[in-house]
Amino acid sequence: MSKIDKRIEKVLFTNKQVNDAIKKAALWIDKNYKGKKPLLVGILKGVVPFFGHIVVNVKTDVTIDFMVFSSYHGNVKATTKPNIVMDLKSDIKGKHVVIIEDIVDTGKTLNCLVRVLSKRKPKSLKVLTLLDKKDSRTVDFNPDYSCFKVPNKYIVGFGFDYDEQMRNLPYIGILKEEIYNKNLTKISRSKKC
Ligand code: 5GP
Repeated sequence: MSKIDKRIEKVLFTNKQVNDAIKKAALWIDKNYKGKKPLLVGILKGVVPFFGHIVVNVKTDVTIDFMVFSSYHGNVKATTKPNIVMDLKSDIKGKHVVIIEDIVDTGKTLNCLVRVLSKRKPKSLKVLTLLDKKDSRTVDFNPDYSCFKVPNKYIVGFGFDYDEQMRNLPYIGILKEEIYNKNLTKISRSKKC
């Protein structure tokens, strides 16, 4: 394994472990969507490495599209409206849709997104995530498939950032608290819904 970044407390999953888990997630898509031509919806931007690996491992025909949700930085008042910064190009009515997200933390983002996309009448709508921080949930939401369960710690690498850095680490790790504590507001990640 390559040298571990000094900002990492602990490596949770090596690059090989992540790649193997993504192959299994691609098999889950193949098994559930053979012949159904699902639309894979990536929620930018932490999902990019995960999404790319999913796409090249899936055997069944798929199409892809992307969305961007805005996130809070610091103390921002809660709102009841979803904030879609970039919407899908595709009309999802009558399609089998799989939302692909990097992590479920509080569950607010995906809970909101599922409600928004359900109103567009897809034929089916499921959620696949790379990580599941089950102990952090504040709303009743569970993904249909997740590759790994992770503890309630700040995760970086393989698409996960700290202040837009470290997305390029090939493994998934826990960020050292001393780095995290330097600027807590920068990693406040609750999203509007
Ligand atoms: P939720 O709405 O489930 O609380 O938040 C999901 C979003 O929070 C994710 O898409 C991700 O952007 C961000 N997030 C949650 N936990 C972490 C984490 O440990 N590390 C990073 N980098 N982002 C996280």
